[in-house]
Amino acid sequence: MIEKYEKFIGEHELDSLFKIAERIKDLSILHVNSTKAGGGVAEILNRMVPLMKELGLNVDWRVIKGDNEFFNVTKSFHNSLQNGIGNITEEHFRIYDKWQELNLSEIPLDYDVMFIHDPQPAGLIKFKKGNNRWIWRCHIDISNPYPPVWDFLKKYVSEYNASIISVPSFGRDDIDIPQFIIPPSIDPLSEKNKHISETTKLRIMSKFGISEDKPLVTQISRFDYAKDPLGVIKAYKLAKRHVDLQLAYVGSPATDDPEGEKVYNEVIRESRDDKDIHILMLPPYSDLEINAFQSASTVVMQKSIKEGFGLTVSEAMWKNKPVIGGNTGGIPLQVINGVTGFLVNSPQGAAHYTIYLTRNAKVRHTMGTNAREHVRRNFLITRELRDYLMTIMYVNE
Ligand code: UDP
Repeated sequence: MIEKYEKFIGEHELDSLFKIAERIKDLSILHVNSTKAGGGVAEILNRMVPLMKELGLNVDWRVIKGDNEFFNVTKSFHNSLQNGIGNITEEHFRIYDKWQELNLSEIPLDYDVMFIHDPQPAGLIKFKKGNNRWIWRCHIDISNPYPPVWDFLKKYVSEYNASIISVPSFGRDDIDIPQFIIPPSIDPLSEKNKHISETTKLRIMSKFGISEDKPLVTQISRFDYAKDPLGVIKAYKLAKRHVDLQLAYVGSPATDDPEGEKVYNEVIRESRDDKDIHILMLPPYSDLEINAFQSASTVVMQKSIKEGFGLTVSEAMWKNKPVIGGNTGGIPLQVINGVTGFLVNSPQGAAHYTIYLTRNAKVRHTMGTNAREHVRRNFLITRELRDYLMTIMYVNE
C-alpha cells in the first residue's frame, strides 16, 4: 500500500524511504502517547505506525492509562505550557509522577527506541534502564511556558537523547539536547483526506442539515478555548451581516481532554439564536464526515489563539480550500498570507476575509490550488515519516 503514495511524492522519494528504513530495521521502536483517538497526535499515529510496519520496521504503539485526576493535571500542564500562566501546586506534580509509575505495568520501557509523544508520558524516562534511546516528540507550543511547569518537565526532557518540535519558534535554549524541527503531516490516502464523490459529500451534508444553497464556513476542532470557538461564532455573526452564510463547528471528544464538555456547553449557548449555526459533537473516527465537511465548505476557518501545528489546516488545504487561520503556532507554516489563505488576529479579521472569499470564487480557486500544492510539497505523511526515520538513525549513531 505504501506504493500508492508514489503518485504524490514520486518514485525517488518513495525509494529513499525504503533505503533509510533498511538502515534501522534491526531496532525495535515504541510510540507512546496518551490517547488512542481524538486530537492530532492520535490522528498521526493511527497512520504512521502501519506505514512504519510496511517499511519492515519493528514498531509498536502504546497508550498510557490515567484517571480523571491525572488527565485534569496533564490538561492544566498543557494549558499552562501553551499560555504561560497557570495555577499549579505541588499536588499536581505528585499526581503526575504517581501516574508515571503506575504506567510501568502498561508500558514496556525496553524497546531500542522509545518515541514519547507530548508531556503526558514524558516522565516515564525516569525509569529508564540501560542504554536505549529516548526521543521526546513535542506537539505543543512550549515557547512561552509557565515556568514552574516547564522547570518540572525540563528535568525529564533533559534526559532524552533528542527532542522534536513542530515549529522553529518552539525551540528552547535551556535544554542541552538536540532539537529537531519536524512539522506534522496528513495522510492523503486516509478516509479523512481521500477524494470523495459529490454524491457522498451531499448525502453527508444533508444528513447534518447543511443546505446546498448557502456558502458554508467550517471549523473542525476539539471544544477547547485555544481553538477560539466563541471567536469563530463571533466572526461568523459579523460576516453574516453582509453575506448569507451557514456555520458548522464540528468537534469530538478526546479522552485526554476533560475540559471539552464545559466549552461545548458555552458554544451551544452562544449559537442558540441562529438556526444556520450547526454545532456538532461527532463520535471519534468520524473521518468520512470530517472529510465531507471540509470538502463541502466554501471557506475553512482555524481561528486558534494557541496552536501546536493545526492538522485541520493542512487537511482543508489538501481539499483545495483556502484557510482563514489564527496567526499562531504552526498555522503560519501552512497559511501563507494571501497565497494559501489568510492569517488573522481577531474575529473582525476573520469576518473580513470570510466575506472576501465568499464573494470571490476565482480567488478561492487560485488560493485553493496553491494550498493543495503547498501541502503536497511539505505536509504529507511520507515527509514526516522520513524525518522520523532520520531522527531514529541519528540517535543511534
Ligand atoms: N478531528 C476529528 N474530529 C473532530 C475534531 C477533530 O477527527 O471532531 C481531527 C482533525 O481532523 C485533526 C485532529 O483531530 O486531524 C486535530 O488535530 P489538530 O492538530 O488540528 O489539533 P489538536 O486537537 O491536536 O490540538
